[in-house]
Amino acid sequence: MGQVKSVEFKMKEFEYFKPFHITNSISYGSQNIEVIVELDNGIIGYGEASPSFRVNGEKVAAVMGLENAVNEMIVGMDVRNYRQIFDITDKLFGAPSIKAAVQYATLDAFSEETGVPVYQILGGAKTKIETDQTMSIGTIEERISEAKSIVGKGHNIIKIKIGENLEEDIKSMIAIHEATKGCKYIVDANMGYTPKQAVRFVTEVYRAGVDISVFEQPVGMYDIEGLKYVRWNSPFPVAADESAKTKYDVMRLIKEEAVDYINIKLMKSGISDALAIVEMVKAANLKLMIGCMGESSLGINQSVQFALGTGAFDFHDLDSSLMLKEQVFRGKYKVDVPYYYV
Ligand code: MN
Repeated sequence: MGQVKSVEFKMKEFEYFKPFHITNSISYGSQNIEVIVELDNGIIGYGEASPSFRVNGEKVAAVMGLENAVNEMIVGMDVRNYRQIFDITDKLFGAPSIKAAVQYATLDAFSEETGVPVYQILGGAKTKIETDQTMSIGTIEERISEAKSIVGKGHNIIKIKIGENLEEDIKSMIAIHEATKGCKYIVDANMGYTPKQAVRFVTEVYRAGVDISVFEQPVGMYDIEGLKYVRWNSPFPVAADESAKTKYDVMRLIKEEAVDYINIKLMKSGISDALAIVEMVKAANLKLMIGCMGESSLGINQSVQFALGTGAFDFHDLDSSLMLKEQVFRGKYKVDVPYYYV
């Protein structure tokens, strides 16, 4: 039997090795919620929610308050029929990080019961992926030194945060490229630019000979017209992150021809919408990357299993667990920076 007996939420705090600075936000740590699904046969499945107020409007205390509601929703349901649990937990659209963690813990329990790893339950498309590493906004000197240190750790893909100062961002991007030739760059403005500033940024760095693999969320999350303007005026592919949370958001972005890439994060979509988004984006002949919030290795495990299972992503930005201090590694995958594998 694989019936859910109980669901427990546990608050966990993690500190970053160094403060993480993106447009209009500096984080010193991450408050996550471990979700424990216990079955009537004693099997336990684990998930992790990393709530984001900035992106999802989620406050940890509010999300913690859903424990009883989640128990009422899924106690007695069989994890082998996980689509039934996905359908009922889709109602947690106001707390997508909890939806993700509960849905993943369901798959993890199913996996423990059957002995089939989650990445194989989800399709087993790959056994190895490569992650980038993200660098904060800083002075030009700080940015060059951080980029070099990321390359020094073995990474080939650097994610560069911009969006607070256009002129400094252009100079920094050109300088980082000079200092790390041969690397690929994902550049993320986290909604910091106007559409015209975004086009100015890509035009200037393109003229300086810099190639950008993905230009993420240049403008505000509701500015779909702005995203579209940047897409059709940029030599580089443009991605939606904050604009693309649910499958309905992605349907609109596809219809509007607003972007080249969707950045899926389980914390925005849960497993159920993420699975739908993968198929929608493939059908539209667009591209996918996968990202994270502030998950520890327990939560990054969810995205690693999802990425391996679906095999759908050109870029993997699954680095929060590399940036947080953690006592014990809890992923069901192996790490050999920059690779994650099973
Ligand atoms: Mn982003």
